[in-house]
Order: sequence, then C-alpha cells, then structure tokens
Amino acid sequence: ATMPPMLAAISNAGRHGVLVKSAVVLERLADTSVVALDKTGTLTEGRPSVTRVHTLSGLDHTESDILRLAATAELGSEHPVGAAIVAAARDAGLDLPPEAAVAPGFTAMPGRGVVATVDGRSVQVGDLDRLLPGGAQPARLEEARRVIDGVQSHGHTAVTVLDNGAPIAVLQVEDTVRATAAAAVRRCAELTATAPLLLTGDQPRAAGRVAAETGISDVRAGLLPEGKADAVAALEEHGQRVALVGDGINDAPAMATAHTGIAMGAAGAGVTVQAADVVVVRDDLNAIPAVLALARRARRLVI
Ligand code: ADP
Ligand code: MG
Repeated sequence: ATMPPMLAAISNAGRHGVLVKSAVVLERLADTSVVALDKTGTLTEGRPSVTRVHTLSGLDHTESDILRLAATAELGSEHPVGAAIVAAARDAGLDLPPEAAVAPGFTAMPGRGVVATVDGRSVQVGDLDRLLPGGAQPARLEEARRVIDGVQSHGHTAVTVLDNGAPIAVLQVEDTVRATAAAAVRRCAELTATAPLLLTGDQPRAAGRVAAETGISDVRAGLLPEGKADAVAALEEHGQRVALVGDGINDAPAMATAHTGIAMGAAGAGVTVQAADVVVVRDDLNAIPAVLALARRARRLVI
C-alpha cells in the first residue's frame, strides 16, 4: 500500500534513527530558515574528560580530596561535565557512593553548575562567575581567576570547585568536536541558505575553538538557558524560523521557543527529549541536514 508522503517521510526518518513527533513537525522542519546549535553534546561528542586538576595554593586538599568532593557533589548530575568529573574520580580509584546515590542538598543549576552537601560542607562545582563564592579571601579568588584564564586561553572549559564558598581548585575539562560536525554545519548552511549559529552556556574562548573547528562564525557564548531562549526569540522576531538543536536541560527553554526543537540523543536528559519536536536517536550530527532535506522533499511531494 502507498503511504501519504508525510507519513512515508516520518517512517523513513525513523528507519534512519530520527524520531519526528508529527506531520506538523515535518512541515515546520521544511520551513526552517536557520539552524542554531548548542555546543556541549551537540557539536561536541558530549563525553568530556577532566584533563587536569589545578589545586589552588595554601590548601591542605590533595588532588584526590578535590576529585572526591567534586564527584560526590556531581552524583546525579545529568550534565556531561558532571559525568566527566564522576568518571575521573572513579578512574582515580576513589571510593564514591554508588551510581544511584545523590549527595544531600543536591541541586543542579542549569547553565551554572551544582551544589550539594559533602562531609557536612557546602560544595559547589561549575562556572565561577555563576556560582556563589562567599567568604573567600580576595587573593584566593584572584588566583582562581588567573588559573581559569590560563585554562580558557587554550580553549578548554574551566570548572571551579568551591568549598564552603571558597574556591579550592579549577578542573580543566576537554571535549572533542564530533568528526561529522563541520560537514553537517556546511550542509545545513546549503539547505537553509543561511549560516548556522552556535548558542552555548560555555565561555567565549571554549566556544570559539569549537566554532573555528566547525566553520561557524556567529557565536553567542556565556548564555544561561533563558539567554538561549531570548536569542532564539530575537531571531524569530526578525522573521527567522529557527531549528534549535540541543541535548541538555539547559536547551529546553530555547527548544520551546524555537520553530522546531531537535534533541540529540535519546539517552539525553528526559526533559529535553520531551520538549523536543524531533529526537535524534542515531548519535550523528548528519541526521540534522538529512531530516531537513527529507522534510523538504516530502513537502514538494504533497504540493
Ligand atoms: P552548553 O550550552 O555548552 O551545553 P551549559 O549551558 O550546560 O553548556 O553549561 C554552561 C557552563 O556551565 C558549562 O560550560 C560549565 O562550565 C557549567 N556547568 C553547567 N552544569 C555543570 C555541572 N553539572 N558541573 C560543572 N559545571 C557545569
Ligand atoms: Mg549541551
């Protein structure tokens, strides 16, 4: 039996590991005028690793103490950076609570980091400028900022660990750009006749490195989740129809604002998979231009 073109296209996308939630979504995809991509977990593989632990001076903490504190606070974090810190601690042979455990007072602050109580102390892990340092000696904050600057100057992500409000260490986190990212970006540009842009919560220099490697020139970095949504809203007010591709809880508001929201990875955050119109199960960024092309073909067949 022959299927209507829209249904055939949805079924075809499904066979290629892309779940399109409805025929309306497919029509909207066909109208996409620009693609906006998240960085971590979208343009990058989203399996970052901790490559250095910079312990700040004048402290009793060993590198193991720091990793254990940070990893215990990150247990239960859905963020790739959190998972990287937990993996680093386990790889170092540290004795952590089991996988399913979560530290008391655990709170994830999307786009910022996490806070939890570990050994009766308040431990924060994340972006120093978005956490709440308190009671730290100015010299310690200054040293932390200097170390962060060094990490960022290499295009890496700097994650700060705070113990009762005072920075104790800066973790250097590195992620690999997906091998297919540059080609997928190029193909999206051809299909929409507009250069894709990068929206990220990460710092400008880490964002700039990924942008350079993937051929993106329009980069908006340092955005909180609402900032990503505002950037999408501004584009749409200018008549753009944005397909927003993301993988995290931090992308959910922007996804809801965008003409269409596309989630990378069914294994990603549940909220994101729910907020999305399209879920890419196949872990490949080429699925984005592929589904855009498919949507356009289906529309031509219908008209
Ligand atoms: P992206 O937009 O690249 O996916 P996010 O908006 O999720 O990034 O996060 C922005 C920044 O906040 C990260 O680069 C990281 O420094 C910090 N961050 C967010 N969540 C965490 C976490 N769970 N642990 C440590 N740092 C975090
Ligand atoms: Mg992400």
